[in-house]
Amino acid sequence: MPSVVQVEPLTTARALRGPFDYLRPDGVGVGSVLVVPFGHREVVGVVTGIADESEHEPIEPRRVLETRLPPDLVGLAMWIAAEYCSTPARALSLLLPPKGTRPKTALWAMRVESNAAGEPPARLTDRQRALLATLPRFAGPDLAALRRLEARGLVHIAPRIVRRAPLHVPVGAAREEPRLTPAQAGALAAIGGAAPGDRLLLHGVTGSGKTEVYLQAAAAALEHGRGVMVLVPEIALTPQIVARFVARFGDTVALLHSKLSAGERHDEWARLRAGEARVCVGPRSAVFAPVRDLGLVIVDEEHDASYKHEGDPRYDARRVAERRAAQAGAVLVAGSATPRPESVHALRRLRLPERVDGARLPPVEVVDMREAGRALHPRTHDALVDARKAIVLLNRRGWSNFLTCRSCGRAWECPACDVTLVMHRSEGLLACHHCGHREPVPKRCDACGSVSIARHGTGTERLESELDGPVFRLDADVGDPARVLAAFEAAPSGVLVGTQMVAKGHDFPDVDLGVVLDADATLRFPDFRAEERTFALVTQLAGRAGRGAGGGRVLVQTLAPDAPSIRLAARHDADAFVAGELERRRALRYPPFSTLIRIVCSSEQAGAALAAAAAIRERLHDALGPAPLFRLRGRERAQLVVKAADRAAAVAQVGAAVAAVAADRAHKAVAFSVDVDPQ
Ligand code: ADP
Ligand code: ZN
Ligand code: ZN
Repeated sequence: MPSVVQVEPLTTARALRGPFDYLRPDGVGVGSVLVVPFGHREVVGVVTGIADESEHEPIEPRRVLETRLPPDLVGLAMWIAAEYCSTPARALSLLLPPKGTRPKTALWAMRVESNAAGEPPARLTDRQRALLATLPRFAGPDLAALRRLEARGLVHIAPRIVRRAPLHVPVGAAREEPRLTPAQAGALAAIGGAAPGDRLLLHGVTGSGKTEVYLQAAAAALEHGRGVMVLVPEIALTPQIVARFVARFGDTVALLHSKLSAGERHDEWARLRAGEARVCVGPRSAVFAPVRDLGLVIVDEEHDASYKHEGDPRYDARRVAERRAAQAGAVLVAGSATPRPESVHALRRLRLPERVDGARLPPVEVVDMREAGRALHPRTHDALVDARKAIVLLNRRGWSNFLTCRSCGRAWECPACDVTLVMHRSEGLLACHHCGHREPVPKRCDACGSVSIARHGTGTERLESELDGPVFRLDADVGDPARVLAAFEAAPSGVLVGTQMVAKGHDFPDVDLGVVLDADATLRFPDFRAEERTFALVTQLAGRAGRGAGGGRVLVQTLAPDAPSIRLAARHDADAFVAGELERRRALRYPPFSTLIRIVCSSEQAGAALAAAAAIRERLHDALGPAPLFRLRGRERAQLVVKAADRAAAVAQVGAAVAAVAADRAHKAVAFSVDVDPQ
């Protein structure tokens, strides 16, 4: 029996790398979670290996915790640490269920064994007989009455572990299982016939019934005794798909997301770990759920940027999902109406070319705003008056984008970041959308004293106030998105106004108008994904309209009516768009024809970030930069970008270069962040 365990202590320090050897307690193996003495402290650590002996004199761990990670997930964490230039400790921390939660118990009443078969004795009241007939049961409301039966030896009352069931607000009624269209049936058959480890792309236009394919593929996997993982962009914005899985599979579904209490998350995690729940539905982080015998991994709306994690490790849940599926011999199905060029390039594509009811995709008109001079073009205005239910997308929250002084030209900027402040009128605030800084709306200019202040641009808050009829606003400033969506769905007429949140996979049959304002806003970002993002946003929003019998139409206001992403989105032509994108990326050596790695150095000290980036640059053969980025949270920033053909070699090289420069005392005022596959 190996007597040594290799333990990775869960500390955040980058310099500290395990594993470290400890004596192996009974029954402890890979995935066990221990409390170990570490220097002068005690830390939690995860067992990543076992060995027969150690070069050192290993000591005893303090305690073995109850949680135990599946060994394959430990392997996954090690892979993430290497793949995203992070540390094993940080990657392992992603896997642990919420800590410090105990199982919740409630009192349950059961029949006493010796009495279980026999008739209840006489001299019971009708109510007592009725109570006995319903055992076992939760004792709460009838505890006093049950205690009296307990005193007579008829009932036994004891605590039992209860599941803290997560609440969710289902939007739309659960629908019955429909008969599949031929295209859906073909896709389902292809998924059923796929080999372990196969990766499929379900490319279906908006409203083509992708969710129904997921549901039936999941049912088939369950029938074969396999578990299912379903990743969705954001639970709060996609209550419909969650509700459909719960309606179809009931208690077999575990929900995992950040809005749950720690207790609820703990319980859902434990149900999956124990195999009581076989289907896990959740956002990005659910890719680490301990689903047993994983047979099917679904990534819905695979184009969605929320799959990328912004903290360290900066993992991409889509890539992790592929890795997990490969490890488990599961089939991976990524679905979207606007798949990423990367996915079209790498995955086997299944098509759902039409909407389920045979309805046409709504006609899209591009509205040239170059001479309009105001937020709403008269044509858009008229269309909104005619529409019964409309969705309007404006990807900018707040009232005005920025303020300037009419006398001296001063613009109001964030004191900590090089960006202008956005006005939020109802709160009477100017806010920085990058660092959260807030200040009161100014009455006069600090620089010249003028009271003449100009407000520029329109955000969702202002638009809401300018539209007629019932208006429902959905953006990061309003409370519960599910409530807004439910209110809009229930309303007989009205306008849903909001940021990209309104373009997610909502399925409202009676929306007859979709509007995109300032559609080229996303094009103005200096990013090779700008076209892709613009195409997806316009197509997705267009996909919300005309799902019902009444049909619908879409208007796209833009200053760039000739941009390919907008022209092709208006024709619903994803094939032409992806083909063009792939050609462009091949020529420019962008992903999927290379790997990008972004290194950001930041510091409060002037010039330090740029100097550190230059030092890293010297250690790399093929890096672009350093280029200064705008100041953020009081820190100057500089960035390098590496474009590499050999991913693993580049990741290793960047990791070594950053580690070397970070260890140099000359750069001790600098923080480093490495982002593989930046978004
Ligand atoms: P997508 O995810 O592709 O945009 P959905 O899965 O939301 O499309 O499906 C659109 C609507 O069509 C939903 O209301 C769904 O219940 C319904 N639907 C799906 N498949 C069928 C079918 N085979 N027959 C009838 N209705 C269907
Ligand atoms: Zn001024
Ligand atoms: Zn700021």
